[in-house]
Amino acid sequence: MKLLAASKGHPPSALRAAYQAGIRIFGENYVQEGLGKRTQLNDLTDAQWHLIGHLQRNKARLALDCFDLIHSLDSYQLAERLWRLRPEPKPEVLIEVNLGAEPTKSGVLLSEVEGLLEKVRELVVVRGLMTIPPPGATPEHSRLYFAQLRELRDKLTLTTGLALEELSMGMSRDFEVAIEEGATIVRIGEAIFGARPR
Ligand SMILES: *Cc1c(COP(=O)(O)O)cnc(C)c1O
Repeated sequence: MKLLAASKGHPPSALRAAYQAGIRIFGENYVQEGLGKRTQLNDLTDAQWHLIGHLQRNKARLALDCFDLIHSLDSYQLAERLWRLRPEPKPEVLIEVNLGAEPTKSGVLLSEVEGLLEKVRELVVVRGLMTIPPPGATPEHSRLYFAQLRELRDKLTLTTGLALEELSMGMSRDFEVAIEEGATIVRIGEAIFGARPR
């Protein structure tokens, strides 16, 4: 199980302090912001940088320069663009799944994941799945969604033969439930850094 520090909105000094406390994976939501911080923290040579926010196709090149893993693949077009920019080594991604079918969220619908996976598997290395469950009153509300993501991963591993080892799920409020349901990467912001500066 890996701990990713979701560091959007926090200055490089806060990330450095987190590194000194043992954090080795930073997750950023915006390409430019991530690139700026990675540049300023380039002495942290064993840190990994992940993109956890939505990726627009016109930012794909910068994203490949900056990030080791993209958690938010949500279309064939984006996979194709990433592959054209860097056919080898293939870009590493997770497919973001919009389990609640929320119109305001990115990610693909549950019913679309297998089709997308079959189309993009030659273009990118799909390491697993990521989700952000719909907001709920309690952390337990997320359990059903986390279990759904794990079941989907297990099913797709069988039907595609791919090694979909990563389940990126769980944030400050519900990471304990996510770990119980098999998360391999939890993405924690506030519980590490405190409230985001405005
Ligand atoms: C901000 C963010 C997180 C972390 O959220 P917290 O509630 O601060 O732990 C995790 N994942 C994504 C995609 C985020 O945007």
